[in-house]
Amino acid sequence: MFELYFTPGPTALYFTAEEHIKNAIKTGVCSTSHRGQWFKDIYKECQQNLRELMDIPDDYHILITSSANEAWERIIENCVEEESYHISMGAFSQRFAKISTQLGRKAHELIVEEGTVPAFDAIDVPDSAEIITICLNESSTGASFPLETINALREKYPDKLIAIDGVSGVPVIPINFKNIDTLYFSVQKAFGLPAGLGIWIVNNRCLEKANNMVEKGNVIGSYHRLPDMVEKAKVYQTAETPNILGIYTLSKVANDMLEKGILPIRREIDYKSAILNQVIESHPQMHHFVENDLHRSKTVKVVKTDFESKQLIEYLKNKKMHIGTGYGPYKNEQVRIANFPTHSKEQMEMLVDLIEAFRL
Ligand SMILES: *Cc1c(COP(=O)(O)O)cnc(C)c1O
Repeated sequence: MFELYFTPGPTALYFTAEEHIKNAIKTGVCSTSHRGQWFKDIYKECQQNLRELMDIPDDYHILITSSANEAWERIIENCVEEESYHISMGAFSQRFAKISTQLGRKAHELIVEEGTVPAFDAIDVPDSAEIITICLNESSTGASFPLETINALREKYPDKLIAIDGVSGVPVIPINFKNIDTLYFSVQKAFGLPAGLGIWIVNNRCLEKANNMVEKGNVIGSYHRLPDMVEKAKVYQTAETPNILGIYTLSKVANDMLEKGILPIRREIDYKSAILNQVIESHPQMHHFVENDLHRSKTVKVVKTDFESKQLIEYLKNKKMHIGTGYGPYKNEQVRIANFPTHSKEQMEMLVDLIEAFRL
């Protein structure tokens, strides 16, 4: 049997990825010029497949970055002149606020207790903030931001940009793009692809903001200035030599997901999430970190262990199953288990059976 990776990212490759990567190598995708027609076709198809899979409106641009980290920097540089507002639920969402500060902006931050999400009433965005940033699925704590709250924020603050961190959430969590302005993700989590590629989706409000900043004399970056990226993406080009293999594989895997159907994929996620919840709840020495089941992520389960978490991690590793450690300070007292489209029902059942049998 192969090693099975239930780690939250990088995770197991999507089950068709290997075949696509082999084909890419065989046919010369990795050697073709990024200025040639073949690459343009690959990027175009990737845009189309993502648009269909994630229901991205036609007037939203689909751009290529190196990672989600890059998207944090790009969004601040291009869409925030002075002040940003961040909802911080853990390590990943917090880093967005930090990058804003590092780039000389004033970052307002609502920090909620880890393992929770804020109530709508607790979110009080100052008039001066230009953007609200939200992490859809805080992979460090396993908390999932409610979609209703995003929609309510849109209604309450129609003039502010809303930026969504979709890493580890999309394409599983259905986002209504009309209620947000920008969303980004990297591909090594829920898409199950090799790391080193980010997708940054932006609407024309973000673009106008960047153009406005240029008119006012602000610096908005260099090779990845948003207006230039959008112009290039329209003709399926990038400024730099991009991760062609990554874009190709993402396009193919997005197409495979479309053929399988996003609804069957979501139903499988629900089933696997339910059996994971069940084993966590019935195990005497394990507990959900996120207590409120409405706010518990389906795709990343964060579990407190009454024992040193590496004992479970090692036990599973001996059975060729890999789960993640707790994040940062929680390393030794938690485990994190991914439930992504690539993990089959049978694999998840095997994992759950092993966890159920585990006792110290
Ligand atoms: C992993 C992760 C990131 C960072 O992704 P990179 O590819 O390392 O930039 C950001 N946000 C969330 C929610 C993540 O899970």
